[in-house]
Amino acid sequence: MLDSPVQEIKDKIPILDLIQDFVQLKKAGTNYKGLCPFHSEKTPSFMVSPAKQMWHCFGCGLGGDVFEFIKQIENVEFADALKILADRAGVELRRPTSQQIQVDRKKDVLYEINAAAAKYFAKVLWESHEAGAEALEYLRGRGLSDQTIKNWQLGYAPNDYHYLENHLAKSFDKKDIELAGLIIKSDRPQPSTLTPQPYFDRFHDRIMFPIINLHGQVVGFTGRLLHDQPNAGKYVNSPETPIYNKSREIYGLYQAKNAIRKENRALLVEGNMDVITCHQAGFILAVATSGTALSEPQLIVLKRFTDNLLFAFDSDSAGESATRRALELALNAGFNVKIAALGTAKDPDDLIHRGIGLFAKAVEGAGNFLDFFFDQTFAQHQAETVEGKREITKQLAPLIFRIADPITKAHYVRKLAVGINVAESAVWDIINKLSVPKSIRAAAKERRRDRREILEDRLLGLSINLADASFLAQFLPTDFRDENRPLFADLLALRRPADQFRAELLSFSADVDMKEQQLDPQPELAKTASEFQKLLTRQRMLELGSQLALAEQAQNKAAVEQLSQEYAELAKKISN
Ligand SMILES: [Zn+2]
Repeated sequence: MLDSPVQEIKDKIPILDLIQDFVQLKKAGTNYKGLCPFHSEKTPSFMVSPAKQMWHCFGCGLGGDVFEFIKQIENVEFADALKILADRAGVELRRPTSQQIQVDRKKDVLYEINAAAAKYFAKVLWESHEAGAEALEYLRGRGLSDQTIKNWQLGYAPNDYHYLENHLAKSFDKKDIELAGLIIKSDRPQPSTLTPQPYFDRFHDRIMFPIINLHGQVVGFTGRLLHDQPNAGKYVNSPETPIYNKSREIYGLYQAKNAIRKENRALLVEGNMDVITCHQAGFILAVATSGTALSEPQLIVLKRFTDNLLFAFDSDSAGESATRRALELALNAGFNVKIAALGTAKDPDDLIHRGIGLFAKAVEGAGNFLDFFFDQTFAQHQAETVEGKREITKQLAPLIFRIADPITKAHYVRKLAVGINVAESAVWDIINKLSVPKSIRAAAKERRRDRREILEDRLLGLSINLADASFLAQFLPTDFRDENRPLFADLLALRRPADQFRAELLSFSADVDMKEQQLDPQPELAKTASEFQKLLTRQRMLELGSQLALAEQAQNKAAVEQLSQEYAELAKKISN
């Protein structure tokens, strides 16, 4: 195993550090505990052992080492998990497959191109380019310090159609620059098929905001027009590329993630400028969805860091249905949601410029999302008319429906009934008729271990921990799941398990299980073996029962006799 990078990577990446990037963990004895990111749960059954460098979930049964964790959470195969962790550990991989080399090289080239473009845009902004100077003045005029402009790697794309193309073409293939979304192939017909189709820059006369992923790499850009132009969108984003997935990236999260985890809340704003102004003013929890409506994948990413979202909307979009949908998504994903009222300010950027204290007050005084929507909805509709009552109810009932706490729920039902002046029972009728939308997390993965799996794993784990294989002798290899069968055979034969990994995992899992439930392993081993045996017997009896019915139907006397006998023996065994 001398040139295997696996161990080297494991040594360099403490499992706790890695998993804490995805799951909030609390110390529990020598282990750490949190809500499982792989199944939906309210009480934590996800355990991490820094000593063993393993994780395990008692709810859904998933578990393993750092590689297994990345495979599951990023939904990738081992080879990709290896690559991701090697990057993180700064370990060079010696022998990746040739196909992977190609994919990785392509992605690496795209990262390099984006990094080079960001550098170039910044150079134009800072280095005396005529229009660059104007862009710099614009940013300073928006209240950004030079340090902030540098920290966020802001730049300027000049009003020219080939500047970036010519610059990048010195180092990169134009096809790759096109794939990175930075240049576009012209659709102008060419005089001859021999003339290559010309390209032009995607971004011109725009302030450039690099979009940085969680690993600190530039994956794309948002460009904001410096001078208004007819028929040109104020904001333009990079298109989706192999390294940029719009619905997953969250602007500012790379910079904000540690603060968000520490304070266990995130401040969600709408624009990139809002994020930057917030950070400059000390609100380092701010992130933005940057050009898209808040999406489920973004919420799943945020959920790794916190359960608490504080929305600070632009005042003109606060009442929009897109905003309401974003809120509903967040509620469905199990976030606690609060909304900061910005008063007459246009957006967070505007309020911060009126006074940092004003914004701080709005953030700290952020109220329950429902009060906010009550005010909004009642302001928009006539609560006296039948139409108004219906519309108000239509908007608010789904939100009230999602409140888990019964007292809070009753409070808002009453508030709505009083507000539209109808009987409370009528509101309850409507609320009770609504159905539960599938939570995005529950829909993502709903896998629970059955009792048989739990007993089987525990039996093997305890046998290892107590170095006692005597309880295994009563079982057959076929009583075990495929993944446990070799381990069972090794333990029974008192051999060192060939599958060390599985052995360690089950050992760890049984160990934590005992400690968690304060059970004594010795008697628990005997009990587990007997319960597992009983369960297998019952399952076998069920099978026999249906075989027996078939044999009787076929009037196969010999078979009926044999099956009945076996059934009777099992029944006797179970009653003992
Ligand atoms: Zn789980």
